[in-house]
Amino acid sequence: MSLDEIKSRIAIAEAQAGRAAGSVELIAVSKVQPNARVEGVLAQGHRVFGENRVQEAAGKWPEFRERYQGVDLHLLGPLQTNKARQAMELCDTIHSLDRPKLATVLARLAQELGRCPDLFVQVNTGEEPQKAGVLPREADAFVSECRGLDLPIKGLMCIPPAEEEAALHFALLAKIAERNGLSGLSMGMSSDFEKAISFGATHVRVGSAIFGARTYDE
Ligand SMILES: *Cc1c(COP(=O)(O)O)cnc(C)c1O
Repeated sequence: MSLDEIKSRIAIAEAQAGRAAGSVELIAVSKVQPNARVEGVLAQGHRVFGENRVQEAAGKWPEFRERYQGVDLHLLGPLQTNKARQAMELCDTIHSLDRPKLATVLARLAQELGRCPDLFVQVNTGEEPQKAGVLPREADAFVSECRGLDLPIKGLMCIPPAEEEAALHFALLAKIAERNGLSGLSMGMSSDFEKAISFGATHVRVGSAIFGARTYDE
């Protein structure tokens, strides 16, 4: 599917949900994609991209940034504390703030660097043992802990369990965000971004629908 098709599907979903045109940010998830495909999307004028791994992001985005103005880079995957500094220097937004130790490290680095990327708290809405994120019942306390550290929390992020109805997870995330006064909702991927928009997504993370299938996955 082309970038333009995805954008028009987003516009239709915004309109159907009674949302303002342009209120949903499309993050083109470029992880594992060949540089030529990423470059093709950059050449079409798109500037908002997502990566899963700091290492991979560091390998391609500094060079792309030199050649294309206005790149807005989002880190989506789990972040180890020993990569936090690099992630903060490289990325404009981090969607995977998922534990107190990481919050503490980000707060210390923010002091040191004098700036901090926008942050999303990842919530493990399906309570899956193998998945990152705070549990739904721990989310309120974690958000206030992060606010106590002066971290710029913009919203919440989730990755619903593959075999469950995503709508339930989108609704749960929206509810937790609302009661915490958070406006950002990072949810929805290639297979369900329109549904996520109907539940209030502000950031959709679309990879394979834009770039084609990944030759291997994370
Ligand atoms: C890979 C990935 C995506 C994009 O997945 P697609 O199904 O290719 O759209 C979105 N969010 C996260 C966290 C991912 O790891």
